[in-house]
Amino acid sequence: MKNTFDHPMPDAKGYFGEYGGRFVPPQLESILDEITAAYLAIREEPSFLDELSRLYRHYVGRPSPVFHARNLSAKYGADIYLKREDLNHTGAHKINHCLGEALLAKKMGKKKLIAETGAGQHGVALATAAALVGLECDIYMGEVDMHKEHPNVVRMLILGARVIPATHGRKTLKEAVDSAFEAYLGDPVNQLYAIGSVVGPHPFPMMVRDFQSIVGNEAKEQFRELTGGLPGNIVACVGGGSNAMGIFSAFLDDKAVALHGVEPSGRSLDEDGEHAATLTKGSPGVMHGFKSYMLKDTDGEPMEVYSVASGLDYPSVGPQHSYLKDIGRVQYAHINDQEAIDAFFELSRQEGIIPAIESAHAVAHALKLAKAGERGSILINLSGRGDKDIDFVVANYGAEYGVTNVP
Ligand SMILES: *Cc1c(COP(=O)(O)O)cnc(C)c1O
Repeated sequence: MKNTFDHPMPDAKGYFGEYGGRFVPPQLESILDEITAAYLAIREEPSFLDELSRLYRHYVGRPSPVFHARNLSAKYGADIYLKREDLNHTGAHKINHCLGEALLAKKMGKKKLIAETGAGQHGVALATAAALVGLECDIYMGEVDMHKEHPNVVRMLILGARVIPATHGRKTLKEAVDSAFEAYLGDPVNQLYAIGSVVGPHPFPMMVRDFQSIVGNEAKEQFRELTGGLPGNIVACVGGGSNAMGIFSAFLDDKAVALHGVEPSGRSLDEDGEHAATLTKGSPGVMHGFKSYMLKDTDGEPMEVYSVASGLDYPSVGPQHSYLKDIGRVQYAHINDQEAIDAFFELSRQEGIIPAIESAHAVAHALKLAKAGERGSILINLSGRGDKDIDFVVANYGAEYGVTNVP
């Protein structure tokens, strides 16, 4: 199974309708043009496509299975299936685009991959790809996050990456973005800024989606083999939106398939700073180099956002999602912290699969759809595994679910 790269969107300037584009300092324009041209050229090259397929199959472990979750199906009264991105090497879908970006950087003669990371998931996936492909890797991370996500910092260091602390401001993701961006502007010739989702200036929303489209292409074929048809519904969580675009992309023209994106409503949808439900509560604007829905504070700056799932707390969203919302092709829903944690334990106990808290948002919404009697089967994109979350969940929620006396 190969990626498909022949999507009708975006246009040549990177627009999905009115969203996307490129809003960057002048010195970056030509660099981004070069990356776009290099990407459009290599995605036609059989040697690149063969190498990517080889790594997906023999390194990542693709195709990831589609699993019929029979226990959940019986309990909730709808046929529920899981696309098992949690089984990928490094534990989530992010490796799909990190490998693509690393191969592109290598082809372009870059020496180093750089990126920011919040919880460290993107950092670990990129450090992994850099080690494999033979590139240096600098990961910028807020000092506060480095303490919180200590195991991921250790992983990156073992993989040979440098982890550079952002020590100004609140010392979290926003400051890490600032530091990484500044470092990138210092040497955009020898470095590639590997963006971690379908966000950022053109060509990243297109390129990351294309690399993730393997998820949807596989799922479509696997679902047909299992059932003879198409799923009635597809559900995916949305942070920046890459796992969702990956699975949605293969089904956009199949109007019978209802697509559901799930944002985090955190602790409260009604209070600024307590959620990250960009498409539900945001409005169009420009940040981080592209136009999309965003959550703005009263000064028009990116709002502080929150979710129990650190992979979902981003104050904007990939521009294609904004377009798909406006044309009504995808329904965007929201799930709060408690519902996500309930689903985390429900999937663990019904199917023996511990999901990432991010993915648990998709599971929670799927179970809601099933209970509400939504027609047709439900395919959930299980974007990652929960190993990274177990200590946090048990410390904060264990007692509610009978997990006590943890040694
Ligand atoms: C990073 C992450 C996400 C959120 O990123 P998207 O670009 O929205 O897919 C979701 N699930 C997992 C497991 C992640 O690590």
